[in-house]
Amino acid sequence: MAETFNIAVFAGDGIGPEIMAPTVKILRRMSDASDSYSLRFEDAPAGAAHYAKTGESFPESSMNTAKSADAILLSAMGLPDVRYEDGTEISPQIDLRKALTLFAGVRPVTVKTGQRTPLNMPEGKEIDFVLVRESTEGLFYTQGCGEVSENEARETLLITRDISEKLFRFTFEMAQNRKKAGRGPGRVTCVDKANVFRAFAFFRDMFNAEASRHPELESDHAYVDATALWMVQKPWDFDVLVTENMFGDILSDLGAGLMGGLGLAPSADIGLEHAVFQPCHGSAPDIAGQGVANPMAMILSAAMMLDWLGIEKDHAGLVDDGRRLREAVEDVVADGRFLTRDLGGSAGTEEAASAVLDMLFVS
Ligand code: ATP
Repeated sequence: MAETFNIAVFAGDGIGPEIMAPTVKILRRMSDASDSYSLRFEDAPAGAAHYAKTGESFPESSMNTAKSADAILLSAMGLPDVRYEDGTEISPQIDLRKALTLFAGVRPVTVKTGQRTPLNMPEGKEIDFVLVRESTEGLFYTQGCGEVSENEARETLLITRDISEKLFRFTFEMAQNRKKAGRGPGRVTCVDKANVFRAFAFFRDMFNAEASRHPELESDHAYVDATALWMVQKPWDFDVLVTENMFGDILSDLGAGLMGGLGLAPSADIGLEHAVFQPCHGSAPDIAGQGVANPMAMILSAAMMLDWLGIEKDHAGLVDDGRRLREAVEDVVADGRFLTRDLGGSAGTEEAASAVLDMLFVS
Protein backbone atom coordinates (compact mmCIF):
# COMPACT_ATOMS: atom_id res chain seq x y z
CA MET A 1 0.00 0.00 0.00
CA ALA A 2 1.53 3.33 -1.11
CA GLU A 3 2.15 5.87 1.66
CA THR A 4 0.75 9.35 0.90
CA PHE A 5 2.70 12.57 1.51
CA ASN A 6 1.21 16.05 1.30
CA ILE A 7 3.17 18.74 -0.49
CA ALA A 8 2.31 22.44 -0.11
CA VAL A 9 2.96 24.25 -3.40
CA PHE A 10 3.79 27.98 -3.47
CA ALA A 11 3.92 28.79 -7.19
CA GLY A 12 5.03 32.38 -6.47
CA ASP A 13 5.69 35.35 -8.74
CA GLY A 14 7.38 36.18 -12.04
CA ILE A 15 8.85 33.01 -13.53
CA GLY A 16 7.72 31.10 -10.40
CA PRO A 17 4.54 29.54 -11.84
CA GLU A 18 6.32 28.80 -15.16
CA ILE A 19 8.98 26.63 -13.48
CA MET A 20 6.68 25.18 -10.83
CA ALA A 21 4.16 23.72 -13.32
CA PRO A 22 6.62 21.38 -15.13
CA THR A 23 8.24 20.45 -11.80
CA VAL A 24 4.93 19.32 -10.32
CA LYS A 25 4.20 17.48 -13.58
CA ILE A 26 7.45 15.50 -13.20
CA LEU A 27 6.73 14.76 -9.52
CA ARG A 28 3.21 13.55 -10.41
CA ARG A 29 4.64 11.21 -13.04
CA MET A 30 7.15 9.80 -10.53
CA SER A 31 4.45 9.43 -7.91
CA ASP A 32 2.10 7.70 -10.40
CA ALA A 33 4.89 5.32 -11.38
CA SER A 34 5.74 4.42 -7.77
CA ASP A 35 3.98 1.65 -5.89
CA SER A 36 5.55 2.68 -2.56
CA TYR A 37 4.51 6.34 -2.25
CA SER A 38 2.00 8.83 -3.51
CA LEU A 39 2.33 12.63 -3.50
CA ARG A 40 -0.68 14.89 -2.98
CA PHE A 41 -0.26 18.58 -3.93
CA GLU A 42 -2.05 21.52 -2.36
CA ASP A 43 -1.70 25.04 -3.79
CA ALA A 44 -0.83 27.79 -1.31
CA PRO A 45 -1.35 31.26 -2.80
CA ALA A 46 1.09 33.91 -1.53
CA GLY A 47 3.51 36.52 -2.81
CA ALA A 48 3.63 39.88 -4.53
CA ALA A 49 1.09 39.21 -7.29
CA HIS A 50 -1.33 37.82 -4.70
CA TYR A 51 -0.81 40.94 -2.59
CA ALA A 52 -1.48 43.21 -5.58
CA LYS A 53 -4.70 41.30 -6.26
CA THR A 54 -6.04 40.81 -2.75
CA GLY A 55 -4.13 43.14 -0.38
CA GLU A 56 -2.80 40.05 1.43
CA SER A 57 0.72 38.69 0.81
CA PHE A 58 0.55 35.55 2.91
CA PRO A 59 -2.98 34.39 3.80
CA GLU A 60 -3.35 32.46 7.03
CA SER A 61 -4.85 29.55 5.07
CA SER A 62 -1.59 29.27 3.08
CA MET A 63 0.49 29.31 6.28
CA ASN A 64 -1.76 26.53 7.63
CA THR A 65 -1.32 24.52 4.43
CA ALA A 66 2.45 24.89 4.84
CA LYS A 67 2.41 23.91 8.51
CA SER A 68 0.31 20.80 7.96
CA ALA A 69 2.21 19.59 4.86
CA ASP A 70 4.92 16.92 4.93
CA ALA A 71 7.12 19.21 2.80
CA ILE A 72 6.88 22.62 1.17
CA LEU A 73 7.80 23.30 -2.43
CA LEU A 74 8.26 26.98 -3.14
CA SER A 75 9.12 28.79 -6.33
CA ALA A 76 10.47 32.33 -6.60
CA MET A 77 8.63 35.10 -4.74
CA GLY A 78 8.56 38.90 -4.88
CA LEU A 79 8.32 41.56 -7.59
CA PRO A 80 10.35 44.79 -7.57
CA ASP A 81 7.32 47.00 -8.33
CA VAL A 82 5.00 45.49 -5.74
CA ARG A 83 5.94 46.46 -2.18
CA TYR A 84 4.35 47.05 1.19
CA GLU A 85 3.39 50.63 1.97
CA ASP A 86 6.63 51.13 3.95
CA GLY A 87 8.63 50.23 0.81
CA THR A 88 9.87 46.82 1.98
CA GLU A 89 9.73 43.79 -0.30
CA ILE A 90 7.14 41.05 -0.12
CA SER A 91 8.91 37.82 0.72
CA PRO A 92 6.75 35.04 2.18
CA GLN A 93 9.76 32.71 1.96
CA ILE A 94 11.44 34.77 4.71
CA ASP A 95 8.19 34.78 6.74
CA LEU A 96 8.16 30.98 6.44
CA ARG A 97 11.80 30.70 7.50
CA LYS A 98 11.04 32.67 10.66
CA ALA A 99 7.64 31.12 11.45
CA LEU A 100 8.90 27.54 11.04
CA THR A 101 12.43 28.15 12.46
CA LEU A 102 14.17 26.84 9.37
CA PHE A 103 17.71 27.30 10.65
CA ALA A 104 19.62 25.21 8.09
CA GLY A 105 19.93 26.68 4.59
CA VAL A 106 21.21 23.83 2.46
CA ARG A 107 22.95 24.84 -0.79
CA PRO A 108 24.42 21.96 -2.80
CA VAL A 109 27.12 22.77 -5.34
CA THR A 110 27.72 20.21 -8.06
CA VAL A 111 29.61 20.31 -11.33
CA LYS A 112 29.52 17.04 -13.23
CA THR A 113 31.66 16.06 -16.21
CA GLY A 114 30.34 17.87 -19.29
CA GLN A 115 28.70 20.69 -17.33
CA ARG A 116 29.78 24.22 -18.21
CA THR A 117 31.64 26.00 -15.42
CA PRO A 118 33.88 29.09 -15.34
CA LEU A 119 36.58 26.91 -13.72
CA ASN A 120 39.30 25.00 -15.50
CA MET A 121 38.41 21.58 -14.12
CA PRO A 122 41.30 19.10 -13.97
CA GLU A 123 40.65 15.92 -15.97
CA GLY A 124 38.46 13.47 -14.02
CA LYS A 125 37.51 15.93 -11.24
CA GLU A 126 33.89 16.72 -10.36
CA ILE A 127 32.49 19.07 -7.72
CA ASP A 128 29.99 17.77 -5.18
CA PHE A 129 29.76 19.63 -1.88
CA VAL A 130 27.07 21.16 0.29
CA LEU A 131 27.13 24.54 1.98
CA VAL A 132 24.94 24.77 5.08
CA ARG A 133 24.06 28.36 5.88
CA GLU A 134 22.53 29.18 9.25
CA SER A 135 19.37 31.03 8.21
CA THR A 136 17.66 32.59 11.22
CA GLU A 137 20.27 34.69 13.04
CA GLY A 138 23.91 35.74 12.42
CA LEU A 139 24.29 39.16 10.81
CA PHE A 140 20.70 38.99 9.51
CA TYR A 141 19.41 39.10 13.09
CA THR A 142 18.58 42.80 12.99
CA GLN A 143 17.44 42.72 9.36
CA GLY A 144 15.14 45.69 8.81
CA CYS A 145 15.70 47.04 12.36
CA GLY A 146 19.33 48.21 12.32
CA GLU A 147 19.96 51.54 14.07
CA VAL A 148 20.90 54.40 11.79
CA SER A 149 21.64 57.95 13.02
CA GLU A 150 23.22 60.79 11.11
CA ASN A 151 26.78 59.65 11.72
CA GLU A 152 26.49 55.96 12.62
CA ALA A 153 24.80 52.77 11.66
CA ARG A 154 24.69 49.55 13.70
CA GLU A 155 23.55 46.01 13.01
CA THR A 156 23.87 43.16 15.49
CA LEU A 157 25.30 39.73 14.78
CA LEU A 158 23.67 37.09 16.96
CA ILE A 159 24.94 33.54 17.47
CA THR A 160 22.96 31.46 19.97
CA ARG A 161 23.81 28.15 21.58
CA ASP A 162 20.34 26.81 20.91
CA ILE A 163 20.37 27.36 17.13
CA SER A 164 24.09 26.59 16.68
CA GLU A 165 23.80 23.22 18.43
CA LYS A 166 20.81 22.30 16.24
CA LEU A 167 22.67 23.51 13.15
CA PHE A 168 25.80 21.45 13.86
CA ARG A 169 23.82 18.34 14.78
CA PHE A 170 21.95 18.65 11.48
CA THR A 171 25.18 19.23 9.52
CA PHE A 172 27.02 16.20 10.92
CA GLU A 173 23.96 14.03 10.26
CA MET A 174 23.95 15.28 6.69
CA ALA A 175 27.64 14.39 6.27
CA GLN A 176 26.85 10.94 7.69
CA ASN A 177 23.98 10.45 5.20
CA ARG A 178 26.12 11.62 2.29
CA LYS A 179 28.90 9.24 3.30
CA LYS A 180 26.38 6.37 3.47
CA ALA A 181 25.16 7.30 -0.01
CA GLY A 182 28.76 7.27 -1.32
CA ARG A 183 28.77 11.04 -1.97
CA GLY A 184 31.68 12.22 0.16
CA PRO A 185 34.34 11.22 2.67
CA GLY A 186 32.21 12.36 5.63
CA ARG A 187 34.02 15.61 6.39
CA VAL A 188 32.49 18.75 7.91
CA THR A 189 34.29 22.10 7.69
CA CYS A 190 33.34 24.96 9.99
CA VAL A 191 33.68 28.24 8.07
CA ASP A 192 34.13 31.24 10.36
CA LYS A 193 36.30 34.19 11.30
CA ALA A 194 37.29 32.91 14.74
CA ASN A 195 40.67 34.64 14.53
CA VAL A 196 39.00 38.07 14.65
CA PHE A 197 35.58 37.84 16.32
CA ARG A 198 34.78 36.31 19.70
CA ALA A 199 31.30 35.37 18.42
CA PHE A 200 32.93 33.07 15.87
CA ALA A 201 35.22 31.51 18.49
CA PHE A 202 31.99 30.69 20.38
CA PHE A 203 30.51 29.28 17.14
CA ARG A 204 33.63 27.16 16.60
CA ASP A 205 33.63 25.81 20.17
CA MET A 206 30.10 24.48 19.70
CA PHE A 207 31.12 22.99 16.35
CA ASN A 208 34.04 21.21 18.03
CA ALA A 209 31.74 19.84 20.73
CA GLU A 210 29.45 18.32 18.09
CA ALA A 211 32.45 17.03 16.10
CA SER A 212 33.67 15.13 19.17
CA ARG A 213 30.40 13.16 19.13
CA HIS A 214 31.17 11.86 15.61
CA PRO A 215 34.49 10.04 15.69
CA GLU A 216 33.48 8.28 12.46
CA LEU A 217 33.45 11.63 10.62
CA GLU A 218 36.26 14.08 9.89
CA SER A 219 36.03 17.72 10.88
CA ASP A 220 38.13 20.80 10.24
CA HIS A 221 37.99 24.62 10.17
CA ALA A 222 38.54 27.29 7.55
CA TYR A 223 38.37 31.07 7.64
CA VAL A 224 35.73 32.50 5.37
CA ASP A 225 38.20 34.45 3.21
CA ALA A 226 40.33 31.35 2.60
CA THR A 227 37.15 29.39 1.84
CA ALA A 228 36.26 31.86 -0.94
CA LEU A 229 39.72 31.31 -2.43
CA TRP A 230 39.53 27.52 -2.18
CA MET A 231 36.02 27.44 -3.66
CA VAL A 232 37.67 28.74 -6.83
CA GLN A 233 41.01 26.90 -6.56
CA LYS A 234 40.02 23.43 -5.32
CA PRO A 235 36.28 23.10 -4.71
CA TRP A 236 36.42 19.36 -5.42
CA ASP A 237 38.11 18.93 -2.00
CA PHE A 238 35.06 20.10 0.00
CA ASP A 239 32.35 17.79 1.37
CA VAL A 240 30.05 19.64 3.83
CA LEU A 241 30.64 23.25 4.89
CA VAL A 242 28.73 24.98 7.66
CA THR A 243 28.69 28.70 8.31
CA GLU A 244 26.97 31.82 9.63
CA ASN A 245 24.06 33.46 7.78
CA MET A 246 25.82 36.35 5.98
CA PHE A 247 28.94 34.34 5.10
CA GLY A 248 26.62 31.63 3.74
CA ASP A 249 24.63 34.16 1.75
CA ILE A 250 27.76 35.31 -0.06
CA LEU A 251 29.42 31.92 -0.50
CA SER A 252 26.25 30.32 -1.85
CA ASP A 253 26.17 32.76 -4.77
CA LEU A 254 29.80 31.93 -5.44
CA GLY A 255 28.73 28.27 -5.45
CA ALA A 256 25.94 29.04 -7.93
CA GLY A 257 28.53 30.76 -10.13
CA LEU A 258 30.69 27.61 -10.13
CA MET A 259 27.68 25.63 -11.37
CA GLY A 260 27.27 27.91 -14.36
CA GLY A 261 24.59 30.20 -12.95
CA LEU A 262 21.55 30.64 -10.74
CA GLY A 263 19.37 28.57 -13.08
CA LEU A 264 21.05 25.40 -11.81
CA ALA A 265 21.26 26.21 -8.09
CA PRO A 266 18.74 24.46 -5.83
CA SER A 267 18.27 24.99 -2.10
CA ALA A 268 16.41 23.91 0.99
CA ASP A 269 15.61 25.64 4.27
CA ILE A 270 15.29 22.97 6.92
CA GLY A 271 14.22 22.99 10.56
CA LEU A 272 13.40 20.29 13.09
CA GLU A 273 9.84 19.76 11.85
CA HIS A 274 9.45 21.50 8.50
CA ALA A 275 11.40 22.06 5.32
CA VAL A 276 11.02 24.37 2.32
CA PHE A 277 12.59 23.54 -1.04
CA GLN A 278 13.14 26.35 -3.53
CA PRO A 279 15.59 27.50 -6.21
CA CYS A 280 18.27 29.99 -5.14
CA HIS A 281 17.21 32.50 -7.78
CA GLY A 282 14.53 35.17 -7.57
CA SER A 283 11.41 35.70 -9.66
CA ALA A 284 13.38 37.05 -12.67
CA PRO A 285 10.69 39.53 -13.79
CA ASP A 286 12.89 40.51 -16.77
CA ILE A 287 12.18 37.16 -18.46
CA ALA A 288 8.79 36.26 -16.94
CA GLY A 289 6.03 35.27 -19.35
CA GLN A 290 8.42 34.39 -22.18
CA GLY A 291 8.69 30.65 -21.54
CA VAL A 292 12.50 30.81 -21.42
CA ALA A 293 13.20 30.41 -17.69
CA ASN A 294 15.50 27.59 -16.70
CA PRO A 295 13.45 25.06 -14.67
CA MET A 296 16.46 23.00 -13.51
CA ALA A 297 17.07 24.72 -10.14
CA MET A 298 13.40 24.20 -9.30
CA ILE A 299 13.48 20.55 -10.41
CA LEU A 300 16.70 19.93 -8.45
CA SER A 301 15.02 21.48 -5.39
CA ALA A 302 12.19 18.98 -5.86
CA ALA A 303 14.80 16.18 -5.98
CA MET A 304 16.21 17.46 -2.66
CA MET A 305 12.66 17.37 -1.26
CA LEU A 306 12.22 13.69 -2.19
CA ASP A 307 15.58 12.87 -0.63
CA TRP A 308 14.81 14.77 2.60
CA LEU A 309 11.31 13.28 2.89
CA GLY A 310 12.74 9.81 2.31
CA ILE A 311 15.32 10.22 5.07
CA GLU A 312 12.81 11.84 7.49
CA LYS A 313 10.13 9.20 6.87
CA ASP A 314 12.59 6.34 6.49
CA HIS A 315 11.25 5.65 3.01
CA ALA A 316 13.80 4.17 0.61
CA GLY A 317 11.57 4.66 -2.48
CA LEU A 318 11.59 8.44 -1.99
CA VAL A 319 15.37 8.59 -1.45
CA ASP A 320 15.83 6.52 -4.59
CA ASP A 321 13.56 8.77 -6.67
CA GLY A 322 15.31 11.88 -5.30
CA ARG A 323 18.60 10.49 -6.58
CA ARG A 324 17.06 9.46 -9.93
CA LEU A 325 15.59 12.93 -10.45
CA ARG A 326 18.86 14.69 -9.59
CA GLU A 327 20.80 12.41 -11.90
CA ALA A 328 18.27 12.94 -14.72
CA VAL A 329 18.83 16.72 -14.48
CA GLU A 330 22.61 16.23 -14.37
CA ASP A 331 22.44 14.03 -17.46
CA VAL A 332 20.33 16.55 -19.39
CA VAL A 333 22.73 19.36 -18.44
CA ALA A 334 25.80 17.32 -19.38
CA ASP A 335 24.16 16.24 -22.66
CA GLY A 336 23.84 19.93 -23.59
CA ARG A 337 21.10 19.66 -26.26
CA PHE A 338 18.25 21.04 -24.14
CA LEU A 339 19.85 23.92 -22.31
CA THR A 340 17.97 27.18 -21.74
CA ARG A 341 19.29 30.58 -22.80
CA ASP A 342 21.01 31.35 -19.48
CA LEU A 343 23.23 28.29 -20.03
CA GLY A 344 24.01 29.17 -23.64
CA GLY A 345 21.28 27.04 -25.23
CA SER A 346 17.99 27.85 -26.96
CA ALA A 347 15.51 25.47 -25.32
CA GLY A 348 12.40 26.87 -23.67
CA THR A 349 11.25 26.00 -20.15
CA GLU A 350 8.88 23.24 -21.35
CA GLU A 351 11.43 21.67 -23.65
CA ALA A 352 14.13 21.56 -20.95
CA ALA A 353 11.72 20.06 -18.40
CA SER A 354 10.44 17.51 -20.96
CA ALA A 355 14.04 16.42 -21.53
CA VAL A 356 14.22 15.53 -17.82
CA LEU A 357 10.98 13.53 -18.07
CA ASP A 358 12.34 11.68 -21.12
CA MET A 359 15.59 10.97 -19.30
CA LEU A 360 13.54 9.45 -16.45
CA PHE A 361 10.96 7.49 -18.38
CA VAL A 362 12.10 7.02 -21.98
CA SER A 363 15.86 6.46 -22.03
P1 ATP B 1 16.13 38.15 -5.59
O1 ATP B 1 16.65 39.41 -4.96
O2 ATP B 1 14.65 37.97 -5.46
O3 ATP B 1 16.92 36.92 -5.28
P2 ATP B 1 17.46 39.05 -7.94
O4 ATP B 1 17.00 40.42 -8.30
O5 ATP B 1 18.76 38.89 -7.24
O6 ATP B 1 16.30 38.33 -7.14
P3 ATP B 1 16.86 37.07 -9.90
O7 ATP B 1 15.41 37.25 -9.99
O8 ATP B 1 17.36 35.82 -9.32
O9 ATP B 1 17.57 38.28 -9.21
O10 ATP B 1 17.48 37.27 -11.35
C1 ATP B 1 18.84 37.63 -11.57
C2 ATP B 1 19.16 37.40 -13.04
O11 ATP B 1 19.22 35.99 -13.29
C3 ATP B 1 18.10 37.96 -13.99
O12 ATP B 1 18.71 38.48 -15.14
C4 ATP B 1 17.25 36.75 -14.32
O13 ATP B 1 16.66 36.82 -15.59
C5 ATP B 1 18.28 35.60 -14.26
N1 ATP B 1 17.62 34.37 -13.80
C6 ATP B 1 17.23 34.08 -12.54
N2 ATP B 1 16.64 32.88 -12.49
C7 ATP B 1 16.66 32.39 -13.74
C8 ATP B 1 16.19 31.18 -14.34
N3 ATP B 1 15.58 30.22 -13.64
N4 ATP B 1 16.34 31.03 -15.67
C9 ATP B 1 16.98 31.97 -16.40
N5 ATP B 1 17.44 33.13 -15.91
C10 ATP B 1 17.28 33.34 -14.60
